[in-house]
Amino acid sequence: MTVEPIRCHIKERSLLALIAARKLKNPRAAVTLGKTIYLWNTDKQTFLSDKSWLQHELCHVNQFHHYGYFSFLFRYFIENIRHGYLNNKFETEARSAETGDFPGKRLYEFS
Ligand SMILES: [Zn+2]
Repeated sequence: MTVEPIRCHIKERSLLALIAARKLKNPRAAVTLGKTIYLWNTDKQTFLSDKSWLQHELCHVNQFHHYGYFSFLFRYFIENIRHGYLNNKFETEARSAETGDFPGKRLYEFS
């Protein structure tokens, strides 16, 4: 049985990612919602060639895939309220994914 790759979409110059960048006080940012990765102040090629950053966002793609879109969004925001952004368990998992594999890692296609 072949496992289909997850088709991700990458959107540059995203207002959502700009807001995240300002909030996190970072010059650039990526925000993942479902299978779409929104970028601010970086381009698709730079992002895709940054392996640890890519792995971080793909881990979020998998979290959405695992829990379902709205279920994950809900869980993520509850985690943020309870533990803050840095200690949010979904961010902790994504940070671990930067240097290694993560649960449910698949093949990905980008457009
Ligand atoms: Zn993250």
